[in-house]
Amino acid sequence: MKSIANQHFDFAIAGSGLAGLMLAYKLIQKQGFGDKRILLIDGSTKDKNDRTWCFWQKPDSRWSALVKQQWNGAFFKSDRGLLRLNLSPFTYQMIQASDFYHHVLSTLQAQSNVFFLTDLVQKIDDRGNQVKISTKASGVVTATKVFSSLWSADDIKKQQQFPYLKQHFKGWFVRTENPIFDPDFMTFMDFSVPQNGNTRFMYVLPFSPQEALVEYTLFSEDLLTASEYETAIQSYLKKNKSGKFEILEKEQGDIPMTAFPFHQKNTQNVLYIGTAGGWTKASTGFTFSKTDRETDKLMSFLDTQNDFTHFYRKSRFNFYDLLILDVLHKNNALGSEIFSAIFQKNKPEKVLRFLDEQTTLWEDFQIIWSCPKRPFIQAFWKRLGSGMFA
Ligand SMILES: Cc1cc2nc3c(=O)[nH]c(=O)nc-3n(C[C@H](O)[C@H](O)[C@H](O)COP(=O)(O)OP(=O)(O)OC[C@H]3O[C@@H](n4cnc5c(N)ncnc54)[C@H](O)[C@@H]3O)c2cc1C
Repeated sequence: MKSIANQHFDFAIAGSGLAGLMLAYKLIQKQGFGDKRILLIDGSTKDKNDRTWCFWQKPDSRWSALVKQQWNGAFFKSDRGLLRLNLSPFTYQMIQASDFYHHVLSTLQAQSNVFFLTDLVQKIDDRGNQVKISTKASGVVTATKVFSSLWSADDIKKQQQFPYLKQHFKGWFVRTENPIFDPDFMTFMDFSVPQNGNTRFMYVLPFSPQEALVEYTLFSEDLLTASEYETAIQSYLKKNKSGKFEILEKEQGDIPMTAFPFHQKNTQNVLYIGTAGGWTKASTGFTFSKTDRETDKLMSFLDTQNDFTHFYRKSRFNFYDLLILDVLHKNNALGSEIFSAIFQKNKPEKVLRFLDEQTTLWEDFQIIWSCPKRPFIQAFWKRLGSGMFA
């Protein structure tokens, strides 16, 4: 392939992770886009299984062929007891990132109008008539439209208006001596671990009675040291009488939880996507399903519109997320109480639709009403006073 430098593309995608690849995959299938030149730029070649994506959907949905494991039921545990949740009509589905990367990349590589550049993007500059992308080693390329999944926490840290929590975790894929896992039930949240003033829980994906991904997860401001996550996983396995165990693989993550208005960075020709575009659900860290929905919306948007500053639509769910984060920011230990109340008082199907922003206003009210009232009312009045309803 000839050098990419100084070439012009119809679309350039900066960062080909989840959002960049999903978008490219949909662009090449879009009618009338067969002749569009698309460039994907990423600093990495995306050939590692660097994460496990889970989400709930009806069985036989768009990504079914890639689903490695799914669960019909989930445990939710807190000091109020153990809930056995029937997730029907959804199942909790798991995709390994490496399968997703491989499937999407091989589909894209078969297209003569798709180009790849392994390099770091240093600057994206919307010049009005075209966008200039400066790369570390390959010079400058231009594109008519650019989608970027690159973000930095600096913008969020610079401001005070929106609290910035993180969903941070370390997980071990383990094989245990004793059969302690129920492969029919994943564990959505197990708050039986010491909270130490934060929102801390175990998340477990069981693959067999002796194999599971066990992830120690926090919704809080500061990361822990590596050994703190690991000690917590060890104690959890011991408490559950795992016997000896072997670590097969590890994963870790640090996902932003913030209602920060990422969309304000969009310009006429540059659209921020994925986590960088605010497509990470601020109150949970889930991103896969939202990215799927937002890229669908984007396909329809491209049929009729050209100015990316018009892509973002205000949603009442952003305000709910903001309130939850305000509450957790003020009192970080309340997560267990909030999520327990929600799951105890509402059908799992309704809660999952709420988290996916698919409920009606009345259903939203029912769910919000089940939360501890005082902190939410306080957070609500505080935001109302700050004029954030405008
Ligand atoms: C371990 C882990 C597990 C997760 N599990 C779930 C889950 O179960 N369910 C869920 O919904 N969400 C989950 N998430 C959250 C979210 O789905 C992922 O973070 C998702 O990958 C975000 O997609 P993205 O496209 O925004 O970012 P990414 O997938 O991270 O893609 C960004 C891309 O940009 C590239 N890049 C960065 N900087 C540059 C640069 N300067 N130049 C060029 N390229 C650059 C990176 O190499 C990367 O490929 C998880 C996250 C992690 C880390």
